[in-house]
Amino acid sequence: MRIYLDNSATTRPYPEAVAAMTAVLTDNWGNPSGIHSFGRDAFDAMSAARGQVAQLIGAEREEIYFTSGGTEADNLAVLGVAGRFARGHIITSAMEHSAILNSCRHLEQQGFDVTYLQPDEAGFISARQVAAALRPDTLLVSIMHANNEIGTIQPVAEIGRLLQDRGVLLHTDAVQSVGKIPVNVGELGVDMLTLSSHKLNGPKGVGALYVRHGVDIAPRLFGGGQENKLRSGTENMPGIVGFGRAAELTRERWPEQAQQARLARDELLRELKRLKLADFAVNGEAADWSRRLPGNLNLSFRGVSAGALLLLLDMAGVAASAASSCSAGSSEPSHVLTSLGLEDWRLAGAIRLTFGWENTPEEAKLAAQTIYEQVNWLRGEAEGGRG
Ligand code: PLP
Repeated sequence: MRIYLDNSATTRPYPEAVAAMTAVLTDNWGNPSGIHSFGRDAFDAMSAARGQVAQLIGAEREEIYFTSGGTEADNLAVLGVAGRFARGHIITSAMEHSAILNSCRHLEQQGFDVTYLQPDEAGFISARQVAAALRPDTLLVSIMHANNEIGTIQPVAEIGRLLQDRGVLLHTDAVQSVGKIPVNVGELGVDMLTLSSHKLNGPKGVGALYVRHGVDIAPRLFGGGQENKLRSGTENMPGIVGFGRAAELTRERWPEQAQQARLARDELLRELKRLKLADFAVNGEAADWSRRLPGNLNLSFRGVSAGALLLLLDMAGVAASAASSCSAGSSEPSHVLTSLGLEDWRLAGAIRLTFGWENTPEEAKLAAQTIYEQVNWLRGEAEGGRG
């Protein structure tokens, strides 16, 4: 038995996306900048992929800039805005992905000011907090659409309305939300939005930044001027074409896929309760589940270390991930869970279970049974009850 419950880390590529990539590598391998027929064929394939990605988020083709992934797109958004100004103020949250947080920290060293908004205990930033943090020199607000650890969905559209006509740019990292909940750049009112292919059953190493028409950001890579002068470098053609095909399939299938993930997620939680597992907590919003990504579950077990539990789960065939990065002998609590102000036992014993459309309720039930057994075994060990 092998059950994959780490779909927020990455997803299995659609066979159709793999087939599209293979066709590029074997038949359509020209350089899209070439002026001959080989180049034109490659350019046409890239252009079609750009259209597929644009359609997924309600954007126009020319507003999509391909990058090497979500990390680069996040960096380009933050550093690209800063690149147009010598000084200024940026608002973000303490629960962003490190691609945003570390870009902001880098800018602080360059003399920019950054406000890191603290989420509430359920894992939300409010538009009111953003309003209160605005300053005359605020250049950019970057708030993620959905959090990668606890799946909470942030009020980006409300923040978009707040910033309308204020001359402050709005970026959102939608890496985790695209393909799980509706994502439309017009409805969100964002100027920039980050996507990553491998979170929606496309290949790794490719992503995109949506940049609204008329928004001028500075390039961070210099060279031949590809991607309309914003992102130089010969394009990752297999990745881009695979991403495009995955985006097209995601657009067609996402409502059913999200429902599959939700059913499996709900089943796991229900089964843990049915088994009467003692002393565990859901991290992040646990009252209104519509404010959380459909496939996300983040649980802490009192008296259990996440590292030990994940190891045992893996040995038993259940692949999940830690909400903290553990390294030899020491574990650093997750910055997201820390920002919620959770008690120590919840920081130490948190695991993330993320479901995809391929997970079944039967798998979820089996995974719950395994978690129940391993948590109880670890607790028994801790009490010295077992030899
Ligand atoms: N942003 C968020 C919210 C993510 O979850 C991730 C990946 O885990 C990234 C950015 C980085 O994306 P990539 O892996 O494509 O660099």
